[in-house]
Amino acid sequence: MFDALYLEKEAPDGQTATIRSLPESALPEDEVIVRVHWSGLNYKDALAITGRGPVVKTWPMVPGIDFAGVVERSSSPDFHFGQKVMLTGWGVGEKHWGGLAQKACVPGAWLQPLPQDLTCQQAMALGTAGFTAMLCVQALVREGVGPNNGPVLVTGATGGVGSIALMLLAGMGYEVVAVTGRLEEQPYLQQLGASEVLARSHFEMPSRPLEKARWAGAVDVVGGQVLASVCASMKPQGVVAACGLAGGMNFPATVAPFILRGVTLVGIDSVLCPRTVRQEAWNRLAVRVDKTLLASMTRVIPLSEAIAASEDLLNGRITGRLVVEIP
Ligand code: NDP
Repeated sequence: MFDALYLEKEAPDGQTATIRSLPESALPEDEVIVRVHWSGLNYKDALAITGRGPVVKTWPMVPGIDFAGVVERSSSPDFHFGQKVMLTGWGVGEKHWGGLAQKACVPGAWLQPLPQDLTCQQAMALGTAGFTAMLCVQALVREGVGPNNGPVLVTGATGGVGSIALMLLAGMGYEVVAVTGRLEEQPYLQQLGASEVLARSHFEMPSRPLEKARWAGAVDVVGGQVLASVCASMKPQGVVAACGLAGGMNFPATVAPFILRGVTLVGIDSVLCPRTVRQEAWNRLAVRVDKTLLASMTRVIPLSEAIAASEDLLNGRITGRLVVEIP
């Protein structure tokens, strides 16, 4: 038997979330059984657990879009008993049972060995959020934004992706300006390396097609009007890495920043990101991340608190990262 957070559909539109003890035979049949020890609680997990977003595609579902643990049984030639492994994305916790459970069973192709310099707890403190933040940072670097090009903006800065993107960019020598709806978190954002903290409200008003050119690069987790305003205020040849929709799915922008300032908008998807790109991003994360700062932005919770914490996360009451310990 194993404990799992279990989501069931209730007719017509409802759902229930409970902690259940399930037989191992209930696991999806696949190549590798992992004894999960840590999972992250991400924005998408919170949407799945509360039912506030259409994340879950098949029912019943064990949520948890990422996990780290130890291989318990494997028919994959790439993984062996006792090996430390991790997983992010691939539709786990959406279409395939995920990591908010003591056990998960997945194809070997979705797993990766735990990076050498990280513990399972650190890997999940980073989790999907840290991986996505690194993909955003790599996109800025690849598109030519260096520390000398000018300030870089990070929106949703107190959240998981935002906090880690801010920490990584500041650690690489960029001047980072944080955008937040919670100005009272200014000391936290400065501790992570923000040189300036701006109120999100400045970016929530409808913007002109082109605003004053201020930012060489940007990492946006908010979407909606905020993303449109960020694009309008990019410097010539500026680069925006867009990965989130915490503020909305729409994009009320004009083409002006793209055709009059040569701005590049790079979309970031961590779920189906190819394995080679994943490996490179995780290797960089393992080396680059300041583990003391990472620990300071992370709160550990037990599986039993994941349901209540999901509400808090969607209501903007969580700063930094939540990791779920699964003994
Ligand atoms: P968090 O909840 O940890 O952080 C989101 C942050 O966004 C909040 O802390 C808050 O920051 C801001 N925010 C929250 N609600 C709103 C709102 N209504 N309007 C504007 N800003 C808001 O989530 P994550 O960091 O884990 O994820 C952030 C986004 O990135 C989500 O949309 C998520 O789905 C997406 N994502 C996408 C991935 C991909 O592969 N493309 C992978 C991972 C995440 P503040 O209070 O500082 O303003």
